[in-house]
Amino acid sequence: VERLRGSRPAQFGPDTLTRIIAIASGKGGVGKSTVTANLAVALAARGLAVGVIDADVHGYSIPALLGCDAKPTRVGDMMMPPEAHGVRLVSIGMFVDGNRSVSWRGPMLHRTLQQFVTDVWWGDLDVLLIDMPPGTGDVAISLGQMLPHAQVLVVTTPQRAAADVAERAAEVARQTGQQVLGVVENMAGLAQPDGSILELFGAGGGDEAARRLDVPLLARIPLSVALREGGDEGAPVVATEPTDPAAAAIIALAEAL
Ligand code: ADP
Repeated sequence: VERLRGSRPAQFGPDTLTRIIAIASGKGGVGKSTVTANLAVALAARGLAVGVIDADVHGYSIPALLGCDAKPTRVGDMMMPPEAHGVRLVSIGMFVDGNRSVSWRGPMLHRTLQQFVTDVWWGDLDVLLIDMPPGTGDVAISLGQMLPHAQVLVVTTPQRAAADVAERAAEVARQTGQQVLGVVENMAGLAQPDGSILELFGAGGGDEAARRLDVPLLARIPLSVALREGGDEGAPVVATEPTDPAAAAIIALAEAL
């Protein structure tokens, strides 16, 4: 442990070589965790060393999305994160019994997140992704203070009304000094066999959010049965079916980042 600690750089401090990208959304259910898990696997497939912190305290789903039921192992006072699909991960879900909900207050959450950042043996990561809870709550502010040099991707749906809440989430990030990289529109139109496009959640929300935040729209990920099934099965679609249009959009995002 001393050897590990001795060589331990100030993890994720201002001079870190690790790129830190927080994935945020204004509200739940827009596919933020699904995008985070697949983006992590796509980045790892590029040969990068990738870690994920699942900070979505009430909706922690990264372990299930990556088919991981292992827990971190203790080595002295450090934690070694488990690895799945080439991605190292920690989640609040690994520290609660069964499928309990987490009802911790702000200070307890803050300490846990601090531990994820400082007491997990991440090794030399190229990229650390953080799956944020939806909205603008305590965790967003805590992480913004802990990692002010993190960059932020904002996930939204094509619904125009969703652009409002997405904009608020991005504002919190900016207030803590984080740079908003761009917007990812998820659940975009699904191409039908007859060539038409089913716009289940409308259109234009991603462009609208990007325009308001003055950042680029970095990806438009269509609705996809394969993406959803891959999530349910813990087998990310970017690994199992990379030609699926949603998988292809996430792989292209991983290449553009
Ligand atoms: P969030 O993290 O924003 O709460 P999730 O990633 O849990 O959202 O996704 C919510 C639900 O929508 C999940 O059942 C997921 O499988 C599904 N989903 C996400 N993105 C897509 C998509 N592009 N096509 C089809 N289903 C999707």
